[in-house]
This record gives sequence, structure tokens and C-alpha cells, in this order.
Amino acid sequence: MSENTMNNLKIGVDVGGTKIEAVLVDAMGTVLGSARIPARHGNDAVIEDIVAVAHQAAGERFDEVRAIGVGTPGTVDSASGHVGNIVNLDVVSLDMGPLVSQRSGVPAHVENDVNAAAVGAATVLGGADGMAGTIAFLNFGTGLAAGIVENGVLMHGYSGAAGEIGHIPVEPHRLKCPCGQYGCLETVCSGASVGRLWPNADPPMPDLIRRAKKREAEAVDVLDMVVRAIGDTIQILAQSVDPRLIVLGGGMAKTGEPLVEVITAELRRRESQCRFLETLDLPARLRLAPVDQPVGAIGAAMAA
Ligand SMILES: [Zn+2]
Repeated sequence: MSENTMNNLKIGVDVGGTKIEAVLVDAMGTVLGSARIPARHGNDAVIEDIVAVAHQAAGERFDEVRAIGVGTPGTVDSASGHVGNIVNLDVVSLDMGPLVSQRSGVPAHVENDVNAAAVGAATVLGGADGMAGTIAFLNFGTGLAAGIVENGVLMHGYSGAAGEIGHIPVEPHRLKCPCGQYGCLETVCSGASVGRLWPNADPPMPDLIRRAKKREAEAVDVLDMVVRAIGDTIQILAQSVDPRLIVLGGGMAKTGEPLVEVITAELRRRESQCRFLETLDLPARLRLAPVDQPVGAIGAAMAA
């Protein structure tokens, strides 16, 4: 076996609304190189930037790279590599996988960004015992979605919608959702919706928790609504796929331990009313997504 085969180098690219980040990783997901550039708009610029940042991350080792994985917002068909509607980058329809492959000369694979981050979190948190079991990654970003990884492999479902739990309607008499339904989980417990419900601070979640702890009435009400929706979200995920770990990611999860504390309190409250739930011990499965590693880019590489 040649050294190149043993190293099994891959590049992972994380496409964001404002920046594009790339890592060079080995077979274990260890980061060997990285690069980051501002994102430009339009189909041609996006493809050029992905290939350019991939070259920057790999440097002289680009020739050894066996695959490029890309994680991107938008509607992703991971089988064909087609991406639709990357709103922030003015992309309506783009054959991202085939074009990156053609321009770079390396096979390319595309996943949606939440799925890529799920694989990345599983890789980083899996540690010495790898990625055994099911890991659910809950992304509290602009929207709310989950990525589910089973023994290192993404669960896509029949149409690629596995884990799209943000548009499960749970409160039919509450807020109208842009998707057309009422009371979707995403209307209350995504990062963006918490920003709408608590416009008094940026970021809103740490401020909301701090003020609720001081018993400020409005903060108590809003936090209660948000945390109940997070509790529903976690139960839906946990009771559907029974994951070993539930990883909290996305901008809102950067709140850190105070967020884990309020979620734990909500889950314990529910456990106190339900023996079945108590046996699942969901608080013990909660983890914060690693913030010191680029999980989106690492996961894009590992999924390629
Ligand atoms: Zn919806």
C-alpha cells in the first residue's frame, strides 16, 4: 500500500453565507491544513471559490487528495450533487458536485450543511471509540434541522428530508410559519426565531436566560415558550431514532452551558411526570457542538 493510500487525504469545504472555509484531513478526520476566504455571490464565483479555497487548504499536497466534500446551505441532492436556492449567495440552481469535480480534477460530494456538521461533530466527539452508534445533531441556526449519523453514515431518508424536523407543527394556534403551516417548531426554537421573540439583545439567548433568572416577567414567558419547544424537539428526535448523543449546534448553541442547564431543567420536569421518559435519561445524552474545531468542514470531508 502506498503512503498516499494510507493517508487517504480528503478536503472538506464549508460554504457559508459570508465565508467559505476548507480543511485538509486524514482518514481519522485530523485537520492537517485549513483556509478561509470571504464568500462571493453567483454560480461561477461559488464554484471558483470552492476550488480556490480547497487548493489553499491542501497546499502542495493537493495531488494526494482523493475526494472533496462540500457542505452547503440550500436544497441539496447529495446523490447528484445538485444544489438549489442558496439564498445568501444568489444561487438558484447549481450542479455544484459535477462542476467542482470538473474544475478540481478530484471527485466531489455535496451534503447540506447541517448533515455535514452532524458528521463532523460525530467525528470530533467520537474520539478513540470512533463514531459507534447513532448521533443526532440539532442545528439551531436560521432554521431548525437535525442531522442523524449512524455508525459514521448519514441517514438521508427516501427523499433526503430525514431530520428536517423544523417544520413539524406542534402549536396549531400559534405563529404562522413561512412554510405555510402554523406553529412549526422552527417558529419558536431556531436561532432566528429567538431573535424575533427577544429582539432586545444580540445574541438574544444568553440575555434571555440571564433576565429570566432575575425573574423578569417577559423574559420568563419567552424563555418558557422557547425551552418547551426545544424540549418537544429533543423528544421527537430522541423517541424517533434513540440516539446515543444529542449534539446542540448552530449559532444559538454558542450560548453554552447556560443553555444546556435550562434544557436539562425542562427535560427533568418532563421526566418527573413520565417514568418512561425518565428511563431514557435524555439530559445525560446532551452535548454542545465543539466550538474549537470546524465541524462543518471536517464533516463535509468525512462524508465525501
Ligand atoms: Zn414550517
